Amino acid sequence: MTTAIGIVMTDHIVAGRLKDQRLTGTLLRYPGDANDLDALSAIPASELVDLLAAQIATLTSDSPAPVEAIGVAVPGIISRGVVEDSPNLSQLKGMCLAFELAKVLAARGIEAPVHIANDADAIAAGVAATRGQLNKLTRVWTIGKGIGYGRWPYVDGIWEGGHITVTLDPKEKYCGCGGVGHLEGIMGYRAMRMRFLDLEPEEVFALARQGDARCREFVDLWHRALAAATASFIHLAGPGRFYYTGHNIGFLDLPRLRSHLETMVMMSPLQSYSLEILPPDDETALLGAGVSALRALAR
Ligand SMILES: [Zn+2]
Repeated sequence: MTTAIGIVMTDHIVAGRLKDQRLTGTLLRYPGDANDLDALSAIPASELVDLLAAQIATLTSDSPAPVEAIGVAVPGIISRGVVEDSPNLSQLKGMCLAFELAKVLAARGIEAPVHIANDADAIAAGVAATRGQLNKLTRVWTIGKGIGYGRWPYVDGIWEGGHITVTLDPKEKYCGCGGVGHLEGIMGYRAMRMRFLDLEPEEVFALARQGDARCREFVDLWHRALAAATASFIHLAGPGRFYYTGHNIGFLDLPRLRSHLETMVMMSPLQSYSLEILPPDDETALLGAGVSALRALAR
């Protein structure tokens, strides 16, 4: 029997215990108020590490079984335990989170290897574990404030799929990173607000359904952009399963995405892909963080 702890840190923290790659027991959540979306961005990095350690300590004290690995899923560019960049948790930028958390845990008498994963990669790992397909390529697009791309099995790389270039139009410059023609510059929440200064993204999608020409044109561009990005990954790594999830997944019309993708992927060996919407939840990423940490022990 293997025991691990999985944690997701996005705009809130959720932690739980895994037994044999399944969630067990109750989940811990910070802050308790689920509507407080900016609670973490104002907390200094060292206090965030203390918060994580406190949750881990609570979970380890609940059971006598030793913890073999601790996995933490964080948005951003993660490399060998270091948060190289994390636009929505900018206080973590440059921190070796794996080392800092292990140090605080050791002071509390908890000795277990800490593994840090990108949050979208953790969702891909969680989906693969839930569906019993850890040996297969699983890819996930997360549609939230930003656009994330995750994959399982883990391979070294950057994989910033949200910043893939999907248009050569020089006017497409709404991406938060400053790059021209990026997927997130079309699909990201902030980018949509900058494009439609008079409408919220929810209103744009609602007006499109009512037939407004400008909004319909944009909603079509939104779907074509995601189809283009998905087609690029099919042309690079092959067909297979793609999952779509995230806070703003309600904007996605899967048949529409599929019809655009069908115009972009024409080589018959590449047409055996499948597309599926996953309702957003914390449990999948939490499970994936724990599974990734256990797998990292074997590497
Ligand atoms: Zn970008």
